[in-house]
Amino acid sequence: MRAWPPKVRKGPAVPTAFLDRDGTLNRDRAGTYITRPSQLKLYAGAAAALKLISAKGYRIVVLTNQSGVARGYMTLAASRAINLELVRGLRREGARIDAVYFCPHGPDGNCPCRKPSAGLIKEAAGDRPADMPRSFMAGDKDCDLLLARNAGLRGFLVLTGQGRSASAGAPAYRDLLALARALPDLAGKAAGPALRVTTQFPRGVRVGRGFAPRTPEDGNPCVGFPPPGGAPPSARGSRNKTPATPPLPGQLQPKRKRP
Ligand SMILES: [Mg+2]
Ligand SMILES: [Zn+2]
Repeated sequence: MRAWPPKVRKGPAVPTAFLDRDGTLNRDRAGTYITRPSQLKLYAGAAAALKLISAKGYRIVVLTNQSGVARGYMTLAASRAINLELVRGLRREGARIDAVYFCPHGPDGNCPCRKPSAGLIKEAAGDRPADMPRSFMAGDKDCDLLLARNAGLRGFLVLTGQGRSASAGAPAYRDLLALARALPDLAGKAAGPALRVTTQFPRGVRVGRGFAPRTPEDGNPCVGFPPPGGAPPSARGSRNKTPATPPLPGQLQPKRKRP
């Protein structure tokens, strides 16, 4: 379900950064749901990360599971309002989000859009196609990485939010800003062969089984990734049950409100 924008302009396929929301762009406290716009606390480096990702030539699309709607913790309208606050809050800091899609269903709903199912990516691609070989998915949970695999995208783990509880197997970055700095700069370049670009991804990092496209530079292809069919804990509905881990020195801190 699209929360933003009201209409998407048609156009050619573009490199797209598919990003998770809670725990990737904003604070995600274990055991709680964000049910009001005022509870949305952007990470201090989130705007800088998005600005850099945009500057490097990626369209930015946020994909978020919001089962709190199905669970009755908030209305569909409240979930939309929170997603709009995300767009506005980042815009106030000069960062742009091109689109936000969310799944309001619960884990038992068998909907096609709850991550790690690829429905949200299909919906986004129906609005504006993504140049898949030069696109990626980043998030703090196994379900984000499984989504990447299910959609045939590169997957990146961020170690904010619940990232340190993920079993991973994908390249991991301290936070979204660290990932943004490592991304290849596609801006201003004509669409060349995808392989040439993919080889510019950071080398010497672990890449999970099935992350596409694979190149000889990817190294060990299958470290610690859940086996096909074996859903990770996060896909079995145990969201927000892991204990909170204290942030490491230098890790993104939740942004403090100005008095
Ligand atoms: Mg998350
Ligand atoms: Zn859904």
